[in-house]
Amino acid sequence: MKLTVLGCHGPYPRAGGACSGYLLEDEKTKILIDCGNGVLGKLFNYCGDLNKLDAIFISHLHPDHMSDLMVLRYAIAIKQMIGKLKQPIPIYLPANPQEEYERIQYNGAFHRNIIHEGVEVMINDIKVTFKRTDHPIECYGMAFEKNKKKFVYSGDTRYFEGFIDFIEESNLFLCEANIMHKDLTETVPHMSGKQAGEIALKAGLQRIVLTHILPEINPTDLLNEAKEVFPNILEIAEEGKSYFI
Ligand SMILES: [Zn+2]
Ligand SMILES: [Zn+2]
Repeated sequence: MKLTVLGCHGPYPRAGGACSGYLLEDEKTKILIDCGNGVLGKLFNYCGDLNKLDAIFISHLHPDHMSDLMVLRYAIAIKQMIGKLKQPIPIYLPANPQEEYERIQYNGAFHRNIIHEGVEVMINDIKVTFKRTDHPIECYGMAFEKNKKKFVYSGDTRYFEGFIDFIEESNLFLCEANIMHKDLTETVPHMSGKQAGEIALKAGLQRIVLTHILPEINPTDLLNEAKEVFPNILEIAEEGKSYFI
């Protein structure tokens, strides 16, 4: 599997950047993971024909993870109208907050599927499972598995020990690390760089990529903070960069 970062900032982008959005591909499958602001224009660089997009997975309904769905639905509706798109696009997402969930649908652009812990989805031969995270609204971490390779995306979350089982044995863990540890308070619903390193270490992982970076901080400082606790392969997500799993 190949993961391409379309956007990696949160909860707002840096100049010229985008919020959460990732394209996961293999030979016959394209999956969009999150669709925050600025992601759609980047997606079209890699997937100009929406018929080739097999599914969309949305971790949660905060705008930095789903606001470009509001624009994507126009693209889908118009492409359907002019005969360039045959089917609604399958989307997998939480049903809460209900008002946000209802707002996403538009002229049948999406075929909506509600996600929960315990749900298992197959997109061609990629198996997808979910873990509820610690975040102010319903949010899921996601594991994508194929041929004994496992990729996990954290979604948004505070540090919590219950996540360790879920991320164990992942070949690549794309983990949110929004701020420096010294700035972390109880009201911040995210992890620091240090906590991302700690959770990966406790899970015995070999390779993590940090994402959902607050534009106000220096990515190198965040990387160094995580490196102090995590001795294995560690990178900061970069827009346009691909990672192989
Ligand atoms: Zn976020
Ligand atoms: Zn969030």
